[in-house]
Amino acid sequence: MNKESVAYQNQLRWQRIYRRNNRERAFALLGSKCFFCTQRNKKALVFHERHGNYHDTRDCFRSVLRNPQDFVVVCKRCHTGVHFCMETFGLDWEAIKEQMC
Ligand SMILES: [Zn+2]
Ligand SMILES: [Zn+2]
Repeated sequence: MNKESVAYQNQLRWQRIYRRNNRERAFALLGSKCFFCTQRNKKALVFHERHGNYHDTRDCFRSVLRNPQDFVVVCKRCHTGVHFCMETFGLDWEAIKEQMC
C-alpha cells in the first residue's frame, strides 16, 4: 500500500488508538507500578512475561489482556536486570523474586 495514502494514514491512526487502549486496559488490570522499585511512570513501565518466554515489550498488550496471569509490571531498568539474571544465572521469575525482595 502507498505509505502516503490517506487510507494508510488512517490505518496507522486506528492502530495507535487500538494499541493505546489495550495498553491502558493492561495497566488497569495489572496495576501501573514496577514490581521491584515501585516506579509509577507508565512510560518507563513494561510487561514482563514471567515464564521467560520471548516477549515483545512494545506490542504485547493483546497477550497481556488474554493471559494477565502470565505477566508482571516492571520498569525498563528492572526489566533489563530480570533478563540479565535469567540469561546470566539461569534464574526463573520465582528465584529472581526471592533474591530481590
Ligand atoms: Zn523498577
Ligand atoms: Zn521480560
